[in-house]
Amino acid sequence: MRNPLDVLHETFGYSSFRGRQQDVIDRIMAGVHTLAVMPTGAGKSLCYQVPAMARPGTGLVISPLIALMHDQVRSASAAGIKAAALTSANDDREETVRRFLAGDLDLLYVAPERASGEGFRRMVDRVQLSLIAIDEAHCVSEWGHDFRPDYRLLRALVEDHPEIPRLALTATADRHTRDDVLAQLGIPADGLILAGFDRPNIRYSISPRDGLPTQLAQIVRDTPGPGIVYAPTRDATEKLAAALATSTGRPTRAYHAGLDAAVRARNQEAFVTSEDMVMVATVAFGMGIDKPDVRFVAHAGLPKSIEGYYQETGRAGRDGDPSVAHLFWGADDFARATRRIADDIGEDRQRSERQRLASLGALVEAAGCRRAILLRHFGENPPAACGNCDNCLNPPSSIDATEAARKLLSA
Ligand code: ADP
Ligand code: MG
Repeated sequence: MRNPLDVLHETFGYSSFRGRQQDVIDRIMAGVHTLAVMPTGAGKSLCYQVPAMARPGTGLVISPLIALMHDQVRSASAAGIKAAALTSANDDREETVRRFLAGDLDLLYVAPERASGEGFRRMVDRVQLSLIAIDEAHCVSEWGHDFRPDYRLLRALVEDHPEIPRLALTATADRHTRDDVLAQLGIPADGLILAGFDRPNIRYSISPRDGLPTQLAQIVRDTPGPGIVYAPTRDATEKLAAALATSTGRPTRAYHAGLDAAVRARNQEAFVTSEDMVMVATVAFGMGIDKPDVRFVAHAGLPKSIEGYYQETGRAGRDGDPSVAHLFWGADDFARATRRIADDIGEDRQRSERQRLASLGALVEAAGCRRAILLRHFGENPPAACGNCDNCLNPPSSIDATEAARKLLSA
């Protein structure tokens, strides 16, 4: 075994571990199953990449998105790690399998549906593993905001190798989801490492929609630097992008899953390298994009959940500089979501979906600190006021109170 700190210096060129990385890595080095819940941008990838390099054998990484895997393989290879992905999009699968069986890989990325298959499992039996990492592990849980049935089947794979340390990683898991992930992946309850969720440099603001194009244009004008506007539909992304380009003169592009893959790649690349672009996108945009200087994230409508909101706003200010997250919502967002729950969702999940919506309602209608509500949602015990959200900076209760007092006095 190598020293993880040497791997950090020599392979990644970083001087020190950040946050709880060291704790997580120490546990995996010691062969202990772990669930790491760390915010977006905290550096979760390093938590499995370093021990995969430091321990003998190949690290298996289960990851839900092909695009994300390919990004990871590219950056790992650039750092000198022997990494490959086994996906339907690879035409070098035979070569990858050969290298895997020969023990010639530090990391093998694989999608959950493949990883849980009988054929793959029998192949893994013939290879020495260093660890099994399950990225975006909230997908294991029906309580998570992005449940994927294939993740449930991973249980068989990890149980084939009880002595190989498992590392489940996620940015977004409330208590319910965390307990479920631990149970599903056979990680003991004391295997949880929970890093702080607070992103103090992000200023949260939430207000009702009232002339959305003008409201968004105001944010774009007030906030220099790259920004993301999340819109609820593909059509809305294109319309808003055009409107913002005209009203603000900022370079603006749209991104959604209905665009040509080549157009999507081009727009994403343009955004990543830009210092002032506004990307108007559906939530299809952002996962796996490593852009540290995003200065604002605006939501044109209600996000799907508090976890989604936290993950999407978390793309702002990864460099630690002041950034803005502004959510615009309308009563119709709630009406639509309620209808969707009644119409499209199986009865077994309706209760959790309703709870999810109620939590969002409490957040957007709150008169108190937004950050406190967010952090409490993730099981933290924050101070009552953060001083860096709309309600802390400009308390609505006092305005309402003066208003009420004025009405009383004039009555
Ligand atoms: P996450 O998956 O938790 O959202 P990533 O693994 O994508 O985060 O890492 C976010 C960024 O932080 C990456 O650019 C990564 O290289 C960087 N990073 C991670 N750990 C360190 C460290 N110890 N020192 C400096 N940069 C780091
Ligand atoms: Mg990640």
